[in-house]
Amino acid sequence: MSAPISATLIPGDGIGPEIVDATLAAFDALGVSFNWDIQQAGLAGVKAAGDPLPPAVLDSIRRTRLALKGPLETPSGGGYRSSNVRLREEFKLYANVRPAKTMIPGGRFDNIDLMVYRENLEGLYMGYEHYIPMDGDPEAIAIATGVNTRQGSHRLLQYAFEHAIANGRKKIAVVHKANIMKALTGIFLDEARKMYKEKYEGKIEMQEVIIDACCMKLVINPWQFDCLVTTNLFGDILSDLVAGLIGGLGMAPGANIGQDAAIFEAVHGSAPDIAGKGIANPVALMLAAAMMLDHLKMHDKATRLRTSILDTFNVDNVRTGDLGGKANCKEFTAALVSRI
Ligand code: NAD
Repeated sequence: MSAPISATLIPGDGIGPEIVDATLAAFDALGVSFNWDIQQAGLAGVKAAGDPLPPAVLDSIRRTRLALKGPLETPSGGGYRSSNVRLREEFKLYANVRPAKTMIPGGRFDNIDLMVYRENLEGLYMGYEHYIPMDGDPEAIAIATGVNTRQGSHRLLQYAFEHAIANGRKKIAVVHKANIMKALTGIFLDEARKMYKEKYEGKIEMQEVIIDACCMKLVINPWQFDCLVTTNLFGDILSDLVAGLIGGLGMAPGANIGQDAAIFEAVHGSAPDIAGKGIANPVALMLAAAMMLDHLKMHDKATRLRTSILDTFNVDNVRTGDLGGKANCKEFTAALVSRI
């Protein structure tokens, strides 16, 4: 057993507690021990402390600088901003890293190994939105303002280039819509071109692709891409698209990396349609846990976890319902733990 590492644990809403328990069982089996500070947020935060993001959660992450998080629901009504967006802002989690790798061969797309780097703090996610009334309709016109800064683009692009090169990646595609949003996404493309010329030419290949064409190309021939780096909203959409290529959201992990903290989570939400049924696929959160182990430089443990998941799928043939299997969350976890 290694010495315990302090980290914040947010079980979250819906299927969150179920997949978090499963992930803790995997950590135990790996012999990785954390000193967890368990905190409630989302709907669970509203129930526990009347706030979807109670100050205690922020204090905890400020202290640990590291968190594993289940999905959070933002209560509709009450004017709450998304807790996820607030967490990203609070800890300046500027890079959202979302890998998509085939783990079950024989699907519609085999041998997918893609990496999405999404800018996590700017763009149309800043929530600068309002209505303008006209002709008696108070919401006749809706306006949203996106903000991308050169500095924000720079730090995400630099993270993406460095991470891609460090992980032996060969190509990185800058995804944009600079033909239409010439300023908003043009600044991102412009910064990418400059940075590539100055620092990364010869170390990795850079492609440029417009978002709509990128979606079409990913569906027709995803193997033409390696890494994708893009602005906030496009990254949100593209990461779900690539999750679809590898069997769905149950397999898609994400890391939110920032200057003040790192938060690891599944890409998916609280899955209210299956919450409480015990049938959720815990693999997305387990893969996020593997990214957390990599972040902590425990690469051997991360590899062991990923290999055990692969073997549980493909040697033992144990899979949850979203992947066409019969196992529930607990049965899958038990099979995985016996593999680790
Ligand atoms: P969702 O990702 O929760 O669910 C979409 C579909 O995928 C559902 O059919 C669900 O059953 C299925 N699914 C998702 N994860 C699964 C898993 N692990 N195993 C098996 N099936 C799985 O998306 P939604 O329904 O649009 O959102 C529900 C709530 O989650 C909303 O309140 C949303 O705001 C929130 N959300 C939170 C996060 C986050 O915390 N990072 C991300 C996305 C959505």
